[in-house]
Amino acid sequence: MTQHYDLIAIGGGSGGLSVAERAARYGAKCAVVEKGRLGGTCVNAGCVPKKVMWFAATIAHTLEEAVGYGFCLGEQAFDWKALKSARDGYVHGINDWYHTYLADSNIDEIVGEARFVDAKTIDVDGQRYSADHIVVAPGGAPQIPDTPGAELGITSDGFFELERLPRRVAVVGSGYIAVELAGMLNALGSDVTMLLRREHLLRNFEAMLRENLMEEMLGDGIDILARTQVKRLLREADGSLCIECENGQRLEGFDELIWAVGRYPLTNRLDLAAAGVVHDAQGYIPTDKFQQTNVQGIYAIGDVTGRAQLTPVAIAAGRRLADRLFGGMSERHLEYENIPTVVFSHPPIGTVGLTESEARDIHGDAVKVYQTRFTAMYNALTERKQKTAMKLVTIGAQERVVGCHVIGPGADEMLQGFAVAIRMGACKKDLDDTVAIHPTSAEELVTMR
Ligand code: FAD
Ligand code: NDP
Repeated sequence: MTQHYDLIAIGGGSGGLSVAERAARYGAKCAVVEKGRLGGTCVNAGCVPKKVMWFAATIAHTLEEAVGYGFCLGEQAFDWKALKSARDGYVHGINDWYHTYLADSNIDEIVGEARFVDAKTIDVDGQRYSADHIVVAPGGAPQIPDTPGAELGITSDGFFELERLPRRVAVVGSGYIAVELAGMLNALGSDVTMLLRREHLLRNFEAMLRENLMEEMLGDGIDILARTQVKRLLREADGSLCIECENGQRLEGFDELIWAVGRYPLTNRLDLAAAGVVHDAQGYIPTDKFQQTNVQGIYAIGDVTGRAQLTPVAIAAGRRLADRLFGGMSERHLEYENIPTVVFSHPPIGTVGLTESEARDIHGDAVKVYQTRFTAMYNALTERKQKTAMKLVTIGAQERVVGCHVIGPGADEMLQGFAVAIRMGACKKDLDDTVAIHPTSAEELVTMR
């Protein structure tokens, strides 16, 4: 017999859990289908374990810098296995919590892999379920290129499985994951080489951010090879990896190579055609502003839509969708503008709104920027003088702030409030009229000339 629900979410990650949880609060009968571990990418192989590793790397930097503050710490020992075990325990705790939470919220958990039978019915390992509303939220998985020997490398998923700190590691890619993993591994003691197929890290980010990040990563001892593409990956007789590059370079002696070259949506096993749902050439599902696919009653949220692949975006889209379907808020939807984001590099980056170049393309001469670059007070006493840099992008006579970009210690925690101000239409004068908090780095954002 087919069991019927008001709403079924395919995928128990950030998006699927959020839409079901909010819908259930309105009294809807909901189910979440999950083929792996509850919590999805963010909890199991993304934000959460990544942030634990970022904290560990930050502690490693602090220990190095402590000497400037009079501490004599002597030889440092670092136990990767202990860190991994504590991190895995923390993640498993979140998995367990989700099982209880779903049960307490009266949401059915269906274990297995879902595929469409028709527009109202799915099959999960031979059992059928139907719903008035089906939300597709399967997320994505890391890409592995079809380069010969590519299978000898690992991805971010494999990074979280590593049982020991690699002595020498190559990171291929230049996006979020590449810079985050390279920064952490370097801080924890690996010898890191990054291979960029083009010139820059974080290509679509504000130029000031990527230039400063490149300088800081090079200063931290990371080897960054621009315009270097992998042609072939080989295992040497001694077990190490050798990288043959398109430009003829041969790089030897790596314990690991990490592919950080983007992710693809997990739509290929959903049998979307059975429901008539269209996807683009890469497998992403297009939606209208209400997350509605081309088929009435079927929605897509989160990474599978290909837009702003961030946990809070998947959550916000899911909650708004439930508000609209079951909460009587007929126009409720997520605006995909001014989404703040942090790159957990070393140092971190916080960014929201338009880059200077995007603003100039749209607003031409109406753009005025304010920027500053300085050594934060914390670094006054440390041997390595890390730089903090900030840029405000404004438009028009009122100098409305349309972009805020920060790199430096604390940028990750600094940005959220400024994102609120920008969303509310803050102008430069509003920032100037705000009393500074002293002594902080953030105060520079309200005192820039
Ligand atoms: P997911 O969280 O991936 O959940 C999808 C779920 O669906 C998975 O559990 C999967 O097993 C399941 N599934 C797939 N197909 C089926 C099926 N057919 N049947 C049943 N179940 C299925 N974002 C941030 O905001 N901040 C960060 O710091 C951050 N760090 C990241 C670090 C890394 C290394 C990675 C990889 C990502 C990071 N992200 C971060 C991105 C974030 O994890 C994703 O944007 C977010 O998880 C997307 O949520 P989702 O619900 O779309 O998909
Ligand atoms: P990104 O899209 O950020 O970056 C992928 C990178 O791979 C690009 O820089 C691209 O380089 C490069 N690339 C693509 N193909 C190749 C290739 N064949 N050889 C070499 N380089 C290649 O993807 P990620 O995998 O880093 O992250 C996926 C998404 O997950 C992010 O976009 C983000 O939304 C989310 N995420 C968020 C985090 C956060 O919020 N802190 C952290 C981690 C992930 P090029 O620039 O040359 O095109």
